[in-house]
Amino acid sequence: MYVILEKCDRCGFCIVECALGAIESGKKINRILPEKCTSCGACVPVCPLGVIVERPAQEKDAPHDAAAGAR
Ligand code: SF4
Ligand code: SF4
Repeated sequence: MYVILEKCDRCGFCIVECALGAIESGKKINRILPEKCTSCGACVPVCPLGVIVERPAQEKDAPHDAAAGAR
C-alpha cells in the first residue's frame, strides 16, 4: 500500500490523478484511504515532493505462518 508522508503540501495533484478517489484532503496533509487504494502507483510520479511512498505490509497484518495444516 501507499502512504503520504508529512511533508505533503496539499497541492492536490495526487487527488486529480487517482481515478478511484482514494485520496482525501486532510487538514495538514492528504491521506490515502487504504480501503479504496489498489496500490496502482499512478499517484506516485505526479507528486512534486515525492512524498507518496510504498509502505511494506506490517508483519502482524500478514500472517504467513497461520498454523497451516496443524489440526
Ligand atoms: S501530490 Fe504530493 S504534495 Fe501534492 S497533495 Fe499529493 S501527496 Fe501532497
Ligand atoms: S496508488 Fe493508485 S489507487 Fe492508490 S491512491 Fe495512488 S492513484 Fe489512487
